[in-house]
This record gives sequence, C-alpha cells and structure tokens, in this order.
Amino acid sequence: MHETALIQNLIVVAQKTLEEHNVKRVNSVTLSVGKLSNAMPDALSFAFEAMTQRGSLKGAKLIMKEIPVTVCCLDCGAEYNPLNFPIICPKCNSIYYKITQGEDIFIESLDCEF
Ligand SMILES: [Zn+2]
Repeated sequence: MHETALIQNLIVVAQKTLEEHNVKRVNSVTLSVGKLSNAMPDALSFAFEAMTQRGSLKGAKLIMKEIPVTVCCLDCGAEYNPLNFPIICPKCNSIYYKITQGEDIFIESLDCEF
C-alpha cells in the first residue's frame, strides 16, 4: 500500500496549503511522478479518489505527469537521460552516476478557485 501512504502525505500537504491561502475550491491537482518512484498510476488515482470523497479536495481531478530519469555522471559531470540499462555516460562511457531526478512524487501545482 505504498501508493496510499504517498497520496495521504500529499493530501495533508495540499490541505495545509489550501487553509493558508483561503481556497474555496480545488479544480485539479497536478502530480509529478518520477519514473523510478515505483508507484503505479492506477493505484495513485484510486487512492486519490478514495481519499478526496470529502474535505477541501472533494471533486478535485488528479493529473499525473511522468518525470523522466535524469542522472549526473560522477566522472565528467554530464547530465543525461538514460534510456535503458545499463546506464552509461554518452560523453565518457563511465558507469558511475547519481540519480538527480525521477525518484520522487510531488505536487507540481494546485488549480484553485479563490
Ligand atoms: Zn561522463
């Protein structure tokens, strides 16, 4: 139930923002979903719908945007989007890298009515 916990956290964050800004209604929530986040989109929308039956996010639509993986080469510093495994730097052929994007899920934007 990885997705349920994720959505629950996001809703708590969103609700706090809504209270702070005195929002009347939320039309949609845009979620950035990293390709490596291991979350299933179906499970995310199911959890979102179940948890927005009442409260300030009632009726809000969930929009999901897939974020590609970006890595940074540890040898030459090049940033690139690995397309498949194994991950090899296109500039220097190094196999050492760190992931800089694509692991997280976060709220990108809230479309609100004031
Ligand atoms: Zn490199």
